[in-house]
Amino acid sequence: MHEKTYKGIVASPGIVIGRAYVLDRRKVVVAGRRIEDVSVKDEVMRFKKALEVSKSQLEDLKKRMTKGLGKSHIYILETHIMLLEDKMLVDGTVKRIKESLLNAEGALKETIASISLKFDTIEDEYLRDRKHDVEQVGERILRNLVGRKQESLAEIKEEAIIIAHDLAPTDTLVMRKDKILGFATDAGSRTSHTAILARSLGIPAAVGLENITASVKTGDVVILDGIHGVVIIDPDEETFLDYLKKQRKYKYFEQELEKLKTLPATTLDGHIVQLEGNIELPEEATSTVEHGGTGIGLYRTEFLFLNRQSFPTEEEHYNAYRHVAERSAPHEVVVRTLDVGGDKIGSFSEFEKEANPALGLRAIRFCLQKSDVFRVQLRGILRAAVHGNIKMLIPMISGLTEIYETKKLLEEVKAELRSEGKAFHESVPLGVMIEIPSAALIADLLAKEVDFFSVGTNDLIQYTLAIDRQNEHVAYMYEPLDPAVLRLLKYVASAAEAANIPLAMCGEMAGDPLYAAILLGMGFQCLSMNVASIPWVKKVVRSVRMQDAVELASLVMQQPTATAARKTAESFMEERFPDLVAEL
Ligand code: PEP
Ligand code: MG
Repeated sequence: MHEKTYKGIVASPGIVIGRAYVLDRRKVVVAGRRIEDVSVKDEVMRFKKALEVSKSQLEDLKKRMTKGLGKSHIYILETHIMLLEDKMLVDGTVKRIKESLLNAEGALKETIASISLKFDTIEDEYLRDRKHDVEQVGERILRNLVGRKQESLAEIKEEAIIIAHDLAPTDTLVMRKDKILGFATDAGSRTSHTAILARSLGIPAAVGLENITASVKTGDVVILDGIHGVVIIDPDEETFLDYLKKQRKYKYFEQELEKLKTLPATTLDGHIVQLEGNIELPEEATSTVEHGGTGIGLYRTEFLFLNRQSFPTEEEHYNAYRHVAERSAPHEVVVRTLDVGGDKIGSFSEFEKEANPALGLRAIRFCLQKSDVFRVQLRGILRAAVHGNIKMLIPMISGLTEIYETKKLLEEVKAELRSEGKAFHESVPLGVMIEIPSAALIADLLAKEVDFFSVGTNDLIQYTLAIDRQNEHVAYMYEPLDPAVLRLLKYVASAAEAANIPLAMCGEMAGDPLYAAILLGMGFQCLSMNVASIPWVKKVVRSVRMQDAVELASLVMQQPTATAARKTAESFMEERFPDLVAEL
């Protein structure tokens, strides 16, 4: 048979070769049917019983996890347990049983479908992916309703590459790292919990392969290239040998990178560069240090607002930020205030549906309008800052007025805390995200008002080049090295330097080793990224001289097109880091 190649989404890097184990994760097929009035009570009871069984299964798993590999990821199980008590899910199902006279299975399926639909309208990829958690919890309850047991990954005895339609985070948690070489799934995206877990557990994975389960059988030889999101089934001899070589090289390279973990991110001529991590969950607090970084350059707090009908309380804000600050000390934690709005979170009535959410009532615009919600978060941040090195970052600033208003609110909130006798930090450094071109163009004015800048290239590129960052049809134009983007970056860097304030970048551009030297040369002293990228970027930092980086940045900036700029950057890298380039 001839080899077949599938291309999906990169979830966790690494190359593995082995036998496939196809895990049956077909959804439970159940029939929704009408019931008589008299059966309502029984169906509600059956549903409640299935909830109880699901809860005790998850609690059991949680107990087992306290020791194992997934110890630091227990929060995922807790999320699932919480979902079992979710009002929308529980009350919604009971209501459907009673009012639509549906059996428990039918009512549950309809309820899950209607919750999932709500998630689809969320713009933020990370939050949108939490839909999987709801669906997986739904599947568990359904299985318990129909009394079907699920095959567990914990039972796999021989080394294998797992192929499945989808995997729940609970599957990933019980994986034995010595047996599971890697996994590939039809469904999933880069920010699904399963992908996040795979990265932090170091298990190579590719997801979003659409229909791979239909083409592979247990026992087939499979190559999984998690660096490129590729899966090859029944490889030819030539491909097989080629990948064996690649695998050996990658392992060697990883070991080399591992050695850098405890070494500082210093250029050959002694310039110290701050390499930090971007996190979404409090439980990720220590992941930066584990990857050789020194702090958290972007803590996206949107997660706190998920899966609930009411806004988080001050104590919830305080506890989350305090948790991260204490675990990161003495390193800094840059807490970004709420960046949602438009159709990012649908479950609050405060968020109205908008025609152009990316240009709508988002982030600081929303916060200033709903200052009651914003104040609660500000109070939580100021109080948590007593326990560590916290800085505050405001997203989507487009002009000075928003800074003035934010500062005014901050002073009011401080006065309140003072009069209540609550402990808080009087002078938490205040920074702004530079992610809208208008902010970049008045960087000199903004620099006089704030303590630091953090450039969000994900949005800055979207707004500068007029490309929707979610739209795959224009994805080819999404180019960090576009001359217009580079000019804005340089302008911001010069303004920060003139005002003598720290300059960071926390967009995805900061985590790509190809851009590292250019960014250093432009004047970025701090790069904050997906933690898995830290060793790669550190490798570049430790191998360049600042003078060379400055020259490269200037050369790249002189190029008239993104293509020419990319060529310039690539030849620099090929010359300096032939090994690294081969791995990219
Ligand atoms: C950015 O826009 O670059 C950024 C870091 O913020 P987010 O991706 O959360 O919009
Ligand atoms: Mg942004």
